[in-house]
Amino acid sequence: MRLGCWQLYLHVLAIVTITMAALEAPLEKTSSILVIGAGTWGTSIAYRLVKRGYTNIKVLDSNTFPSSISAGNDHNKILEEPISPPAADQNDLDYAWNTIETLSSEVWRNDPVYAPRYHPTGFIYAAVSDEAWSKVKAAAEARPDVYSLLEGADAFRQTMPKGVLTGDLTGWRGFIRREGAGWVEARDIMLDVHAEATKDGAATFVCDPQAGRVAELLYENDEVVGAKTADGATHRADFTILAAGAGASTLIDFEKQLRPTAWTLAHVPLTAAEAPTYAELPVLFAVDQGFFLSPPKSAIAAGEPELKICDEHPGYIHLVEDEKKKNEKQPVPIQRDAIPRNSATNMQKLLQATVPQLADRPLLRPRLCWDADTPDRLFLIARHPGNSSAPSRLLVAAGGSGNGFMNAPAVGILVADLLEDQLEERMAKSLRWRPETAVNRDWFDTQGRFGGTGKVVDLSEIPDDDWAKGPIR
Ligand SMILES: Cc1cc2nc3c(=O)[nH]c(=O)nc-3n(C[C@H](O)[C@H](O)[C@H](O)COP(=O)(O)OP(=O)(O)OC[C@H]3O[C@@H](n4cnc5c(N)ncnc54)[C@H](O)[C@@H]3O)c2cc1C
Repeated sequence: MRLGCWQLYLHVLAIVTITMAALEAPLEKTSSILVIGAGTWGTSIAYRLVKRGYTNIKVLDSNTFPSSISAGNDHNKILEEPISPPAADQNDLDYAWNTIETLSSEVWRNDPVYAPRYHPTGFIYAAVSDEAWSKVKAAAEARPDVYSLLEGADAFRQTMPKGVLTGDLTGWRGFIRREGAGWVEARDIMLDVHAEATKDGAATFVCDPQAGRVAELLYENDEVVGAKTADGATHRADFTILAAGAGASTLIDFEKQLRPTAWTLAHVPLTAAEAPTYAELPVLFAVDQGFFLSPPKSAIAAGEPELKICDEHPGYIHLVEDEKKKNEKQPVPIQRDAIPRNSATNMQKLLQATVPQLADRPLLRPRLCWDADTPDRLFLIARHPGNSSAPSRLLVAAGGSGNGFMNAPAVGILVADLLEDQLEERMAKSLRWRPETAVNRDWFDTQGRFGGTGKVVDLSEIPDDDWAKGPIR
């Protein structure tokens, strides 16, 4: 069809008007809000927005829910509540963490959806090497009102039902926090939160390798106005929230603020008779060895009780040539349902030292689990700086940095506050888009973590025959 001059003018005018209207539209409860990533944070964000009365939320994910690559799609996660509330005289980092943890613990304790999934069984904070122990000791001794020293292997053993910690625990030193910490049923709470967010139709989840996988963001006049999915469909929105976890930096340039980092996990089968004994264990976490957690109720009910086990190490990365920046490498996630042999061996050593009666069991479904580290390990929850003078309509929520599950409720609240321009100024400053903290970033920085080889390891350097697939014996 050929357009006459006037028709063309009106056509262009209409496009410009619609575009300007979209860019300038104020936030309303009916505004269209697109969340990219239906993982731990995306689900929590959708839930919070629904609770605040928003009615037009679409969440996209590249996998059926819950995504097999979501860091939260897991039996369980550790939860530590804040030791103190935020205080005005704290430094910005401590203030931000105390605020985040306070918001989260309020939800875990009181929200009827979350509370049943929290097991406040206690937390054993331990270490073996001198370096790791000095960190644990300093932190625990600063709060004698919270942590009690465990003097010797017997003191460790008495924290759990008889017959659980039967290992010699050689070299283990630690403290116990009996209240305000424990573990949560991870996948199950994601399912609950998803059900709650979608029940009245205010939020729709499109979780599909084609229809849900965001291939690129949609730009108009240099402004993000939604996203395009792998099936070619466009999803326009008044506001777009990028919450794609370790995959977020494949969609926009985070200027090195995110480092996709992988940790390793597997599962140790228990018998039905053993399940009650292992069902409500305190968390035994050695910062340089690893940890294991009790089976969630759903796994016990399904007749598949398992301990989840993680070895502790500074993390694995996967460096590839950066296509856009010459002579630079960038870390990207790579999925594998296998783990480096070294990690498997360390998990077996952890079992041998603590629960040797389980050490000859196969390690089931070993896998890499990807999170994204910011340089200071504080979350990145901010409006993207954008390219125009108007406030950007792209919000980012990324950088779980190993603590993003227990704090997912706070992420939902903070993102909603940010969207509503109500985020506390001090928090906005701490959580801001902060590429200046990532200049010349050393991708191999251990960021205060211990264990394994003591180094961040590039997965590309691990030969194929050094990978272990389940069941690992
Ligand atoms: C082994 C391990 C143990 C951990 N233990 C704990 C713990 O004990 N306590 C704790 O608090 N935290 C823990 N964490 C950290 C926590 O799990 C993460 O910080 C948190 O889950 C991150 O949430 P997220 O939403 O950012 O990422 P995810 O939950 O990974 O979600 C990202 C989502 O984005 C989707 N996605 C990616 N790319 C695209 C795309 N292009 N289009 C559409 N969708 C896309 C993915 O499918 C995924 O569903 C652990 C992490 C690991 C790896």
